[in-house]
Amino acid sequence: MVLGELSRRLTSAMSALTGSNIIDEKLLDAVLKEICSALLESDVNVKLVGNLRKSVKQKVNLKDLPAGVNKKRIVQKTVVDELIKLVDPKVEAYKPVKGKTNVIMFVGLQGSGKTTSCTKLALFYQKQGFKSCLVCADTFRAGAFDQLKQNATKARIPFYGSYTETDPVRISKEGVDKFKKEKFEIIIVDTSGRHRQEKELFAEMVQIQQAVKPHQTIMVLDASIGQAAESQSKAFKESSNFGAIIITKMDGHAKGGGAISAVAVTQTPIVFIGTGEHMHELERFSAQPFISKLLGMGDIQGLMEHVQSLNLDKNKGMIKNLEQGTFTVRDLRDQMGNILKLGPLGKVASMLPGMGQMFESMGGDDTSGRVKRLISIMDSMTEKELDSDGRVFNADPSRMTRVARGSGTSVREVEEVLSQHRMMLGMAKKMGGKNGMMAKMNAVG
Ligand code: GDP
Repeated sequence: MVLGELSRRLTSAMSALTGSNIIDEKLLDAVLKEICSALLESDVNVKLVGNLRKSVKQKVNLKDLPAGVNKKRIVQKTVVDELIKLVDPKVEAYKPVKGKTNVIMFVGLQGSGKTTSCTKLALFYQKQGFKSCLVCADTFRAGAFDQLKQNATKARIPFYGSYTETDPVRISKEGVDKFKKEKFEIIIVDTSGRHRQEKELFAEMVQIQQAVKPHQTIMVLDASIGQAAESQSKAFKESSNFGAIIITKMDGHAKGGGAISAVAVTQTPIVFIGTGEHMHELERFSAQPFISKLLGMGDIQGLMEHVQSLNLDKNKGMIKNLEQGTFTVRDLRDQMGNILKLGPLGKVASMLPGMGQMFESMGGDDTSGRVKRLISIMDSMTEKELDSDGRVFNADPSRMTRVARGSGTSVREVEEVLSQHRMMLGMAKKMGGKNGMMAKMNAVG
């Protein structure tokens, strides 16, 4: 869960508000006190927190509210709006354009997650249909090129770099020119994050910028950096004038508030957040849904977009089967595949109002391993078995032994899959056919 502790405290402060019958100054002060101390303990800048408190008090002004207005709603909306302001500088970040070259340069301290985020972003755009590639301009750190090469190869992203060239300006220029000629649409340049002296690092950044003329410069910040994020982002802003921020390591126990304060200090928008070490753990950042999720209020629109982006087209065959009152073993496998495609359940749960914290308290994500195991059982079945209604296994139980052996599981687990399938088939029979629920629903609709 993103910023788990902060989210837990903010959610509980907000539920103290919604659960109360009398909304008066005393309650407002108590709620604000809890919100502010949660923010402060997450390293959000003291001045920003003070401003938020003042602003909410001023805007709500309980005494002057006419009788009959929904005070709870007004307080809730004001708090949400002020929290959104904290992470939204109201500045548009550069949006890459299809069909043309978009050069994106990364800056940030060593260890912030720059190289990882470069690859994640290249992959993100590649999935959106952009022709993406990576250039390694970090000649300072031994092994930097190897790391980028490894990540890029894993994600199947073309890359450029050198083991022998020591001039980062020359490498970045050569790489960008080469990929421009080859009509790449997203060219991401990873730069060094450390030097003998800070001054040298900043001078190098400026030289690379002049050489490759990026359309966008992104600063990468580690969420766990705390209050130091402010001075760091200020220094980077003054030299590289970056136009967007990526905050990494928002998963786990990061406090995150320091990095969030960087938005206000530099008046620069966060564009993505890193939520894990894996290549797909990069989320587009948008202020309102982010705050909404942090407060346990969910993000239904985000969930819909997420589901649509997964292209769960195998559903069509299953729906047709359901209409006819049948459900094959293959349908069950496709459904389980869809569950996996949804990603970690914690992520999905945090998009549903009230579910994020509940899911955490239930022990979090341990389902995907189990689902994978069930899928591997079905992957060991023959085509005929997959397309059947499961009865072939009853007719010949040795099939179960064969599947268990093939998938490295036990017969008991194979039986479990088949009993799950039988249950779904039973439901399909009730729903489908001429007199089934689906036919009735279609008739009404
Ligand atoms: P660089 O020196 O700035 O290029 O940083 P790296 O890309 O090498 O990342 C430093 C470490 O942070 C590596 O171990 C990464 O796997 C890890 N890392 C990067 N982004 C994230 C993230 O969003 N979440 C977590 N948990 N780890 C991350």
